[in-house]
Amino acid sequence: MFLAQEIIRKKRNGEVLSTQEIQFFVQGITNNTVSEGQIAALGMAVYFKDMNMDERIALTTAMRDSGTVLNWKNLGLDGPIIDKHSTGGVGDVISLMLGPMAAACGGYVPMISGRGLGHTGGTLDKFDAIPGYQTEPDSELFRKVVKEAGVAIIGQTGDLVPADKRFYSIRDNTATVESISLITASILSKKLAAGLDALAMDVKVGSGAFMPTYEASEELARSITAVANGAGTKTTALLTDMNQVLASCAGNAVEVKEAVDFLTGAYRNPRLYEVTMGLCAEMLQLGGLAANEAEARDKLNRVLDNGKAADIFGRMISGLGGPADFIENYAKYLPQSQIIRPVYADRSGFATSMDTRELGLAVVTLGGGRRKPGDALDYSVGLTQVCALGDEVTSDKPIAMVHAQSESAFEEAAAAVKKAIHIGDEAPEKTPEIYRYIRQSDL
Ligand code: URA
Repeated sequence: MFLAQEIIRKKRNGEVLSTQEIQFFVQGITNNTVSEGQIAALGMAVYFKDMNMDERIALTTAMRDSGTVLNWKNLGLDGPIIDKHSTGGVGDVISLMLGPMAAACGGYVPMISGRGLGHTGGTLDKFDAIPGYQTEPDSELFRKVVKEAGVAIIGQTGDLVPADKRFYSIRDNTATVESISLITASILSKKLAAGLDALAMDVKVGSGAFMPTYEASEELARSITAVANGAGTKTTALLTDMNQVLASCAGNAVEVKEAVDFLTGAYRNPRLYEVTMGLCAEMLQLGGLAANEAEARDKLNRVLDNGKAADIFGRMISGLGGPADFIENYAKYLPQSQIIRPVYADRSGFATSMDTRELGLAVVTLGGGRRKPGDALDYSVGLTQVCALGDEVTSDKPIAMVHAQSESAFEEAAAAVKKAIHIGDEAPEKTPEIYRYIRQSDL
């Protein structure tokens, strides 16, 4: 028998908690036998005294097991359960292509995604732009689509990781979100509750990233790789660039369109292609579907070029209630803004840097993200044709197109875009799309 206050005292004094103590505390979070004050106190003690990897693994697995853990064994699937997660970005539409690409190569991808958070876009909000698509299907339909299409991208159901729901909302109100140990457990408990064999983790770096510095992103990537592998899911983290909008656009319907164009081959933004391929190739290798990077890339290029990945995307959409002809006729289904107009820089030159976070906030201000929880979104708004770093801009080459529903919203967004994209005399040195991989063997 343990006492919550003794566990808090132990951590406050910098001691290591046992797996049993951590399990006891997490059970108390779940069934309300530890108080909000005790949860806040433990969060603050961990913030200052931290946890070693064994403690982080115990916290992650206890939280994962606080609710339903999905089990795919009895579906008789003939491939591994694989997934990807990202710390969030602007124009990060990777999941929409990567899920179908991985499924087309023999994996099964039960992807549980989130809504937009702060300046970052949310995968679920993008799917809500597709008429009829159910982001909250019952578990029977979810399993059916995973089995038949190979991928289903949906929202978190109520009985997954209840401990994180309570812990996260208290952390948010008591200034303990920024603890690598607690972030690791929060992210991974939710992902691992999907019953994954393998996971590729995209940890963003740069002006639009959740973590403030490269060093902090790397520390989180190392923690996630160590803890996920320690919890039994083969995992690699990639540190990827978020110093500019990743796709050519940012918003909801506009990103869905870019995903369809990517899958059909109509247009593939080179940065988006590199990061998508890097993450997806890692998923195939971790899942045993490819022996090495070259083989994985070959397989992925093949399913892009022969239309199999696009076909699976269409099957997932129709399986979850969306239009059967979405791939062919997406323009008919996706909403469009009243105003679609270019924004020009005040001077000619080269795009030298971007305040990517501010560009994400411009999309929120247009109505494409939430100012407060529960706000309704306008799926049509956003930015398209966003210039890349190093691009030349002139008086007739815009830095972006703004999609807005009113003149005043256009003016506000246009001013924000001009402020966030910096123009100089010379093109900057090209930065990599992927900075590095952190595999278990690197730890
Ligand atoms: N995202 C999460 O899900 N949890 C955290 O703690 C931080 C970001």
